[in-house]
Amino acid sequence: MIIACLDLEGVLIPEIWVNFAHKTGIEELKLTTRDIPDYDVLMKKRLAILDERQYALKDIEEVISQLNPLEGAKDFLNQLREEFQVIILSDTFYQFAMPLMKQLGYPTLFCHNLEINDQGKITNYCLRMQDQKREAVKRLKELNFKVVAAGDSYNDTTMLSEAHEGILFCPPQNVIEEFPQFPVTKNYSELLATFREASKKIKN
Ligand SMILES: [Mg+2]
Repeated sequence: MIIACLDLEGVLIPEIWVNFAHKTGIEELKLTTRDIPDYDVLMKKRLAILDERQYALKDIEEVISQLNPLEGAKDFLNQLREEFQVIILSDTFYQFAMPLMKQLGYPTLFCHNLEINDQGKITNYCLRMQDQKREAVKRLKELNFKVVAAGDSYNDTTMLSEAHEGILFCPPQNVIEEFPQFPVTKNYSELLATFREASKKIKN
């Protein structure tokens, strides 16, 4: 049995922070690691904005529950789960992802946690570990699994390199150019076909 590791945002669901910013109209929340490269600085800023605007976790969950997975994502995921053991490896937080996981039928998700106080306010964030996507693939290999991984962006490339086969899905042009070793797929039928080809390669 081969394990399929999938990135979440940009592969199955839209970028959560960007869409949360759209829904709430909070412009500053559209900032990403492209604007503020230090993730810690960026997250502290995001949490400060949520605090300023008095957003408790339940308000955020409510906004996020109005977002939908990308079109065709659920059917793709269901098909992939028939043929592979699927694990989603994401750098998001469980509290943000769960409303969307519900719509996807609660697939297995490894990501990070937010600290919530008794009043339901977000007080901090906690990365489970550094470079967890790559570490997860490493550990799966130690358990004698073969791994095919797919993602859309920079934070996936260590996972893609660590896997037996890596696949890019709708990546930005700069990632395509910097990582020419990975096949590029542009829709779910291409992605599924490339997963199948990759698994054949590994088996031989
Ligand atoms: Mg992504």
